[in-house]
Amino acid sequence: MTLTREQMLVEMGISPIWVLREPEQAPAEAPAPAAEEAMPAAVAEPAGVAAAAGIPDGPHPEPVPALADGSSAAALPAIAEASWPELERRVADCRACPLGAQRRQAVFGVGDPNPDWLFIGEGPGAEEDARGEPFVGQAGKLLDAMLAALDIARGDKVYIANAVKCRPPNNRTPETAEMAACRPYLERQVALLRPKIIVLLGKAAVHSVLHDDKALAALRGKRFEFAGIPVVVTYHPAYLLRNLPDKAKAWEDLLFARRVLREQTAPELPF
Ligand code: SF4
Ligand code: URA
Repeated sequence: MTLTREQMLVEMGISPIWVLREPEQAPAEAPAPAAEEAMPAAVAEPAGVAAAAGIPDGPHPEPVPALADGSSAAALPAIAEASWPELERRVADCRACPLGAQRRQAVFGVGDPNPDWLFIGEGPGAEEDARGEPFVGQAGKLLDAMLAALDIARGDKVYIANAVKCRPPNNRTPETAEMAACRPYLERQVALLRPKIIVLLGKAAVHSVLHDDKALAALRGKRFEFAGIPVVVTYHPAYLLRNLPDKAKAWEDLLFARRVLREQTAPELPF
C-alpha cells in the first residue's frame, strides 16, 4: 500500500469534518481536491436488493430450503462441522442453488484466518468470478481504501466474504432463496473465523445475515449480533461509488465499528 493516510481519506471522499470526530485519525492537511473525480461514476455491481418478501424474522431462521434433489438439506450437517479446507472444497463443488450452474468459479473469501474484522458483501461480480477473489473490481478498490483509512489491510486481521459465493448473472442482486442456500457456508465461515466484529456491506448482506429488511439508513449506527459476535451495517462500496456523498456516512459507520471492536478487545479492567 503506497497511499498515505491522507490520500486514502481523500480517496474515500472523507471531509475533514468527519475526521475531527476521531482526532487521532485527522489528516495533517486538508485533503487535496478532485480525488473523487478519479472514481468511476458507476461500476458493474449489483444495483440494489431484491424484494425481501419471504425473509423470515429473527436471527436464526430455518436453514436452507431443500432442493428438489434434497442435496443441500443432506449436506447441512456436514457443512456445519466442516474444517476450513473441507468447507472450501464443498463451496468449490457446490450446486445447491442455480448460481452454481452459471459461475466460472465459486469465490470462497480471502483474508486472515484469525481476523478481528469480517466484511461481508453481496456476491461476486464479473472480475471476482474471473479471479476467484472477492472485491477485486472497482468496489473492491474502494473497500481497500476504506480498510487502509482504518489502518488495516486485506489479509491482515481482516477477512472478506460474500453472502453468495457464486456470481449472479448480470450482477443482479442474489435472490432470497440463493442467499438462504449459501448461508450455511457463511455460518460455518463465521464459526471457524470467530471475528471480533462483522461489518455487513449493503442490504443483501443485511438480509442474509440479520434477516432484516429495513432501509440501511435505519440500521446504521446500531450494534447487532450474529452468533454472539457484534455486527454493524454500512453501505456497499458499489453503492458508495454511485452516491459519493454517502462515503462520509460509511466512514462514520466504520469508526463506529472500530469503537465496537475496541470495546470487545479492551474490556474495562476492574482495577
Ligand atoms: Fe452453492 Fe452458494 Fe454457489 Fe449457490 S451461491 S451454488 S449455494 S456456493
Ligand atoms: N461486490 C460484492 O458484494 N462482492 C464482491 O466480491 C464484489 C463486489
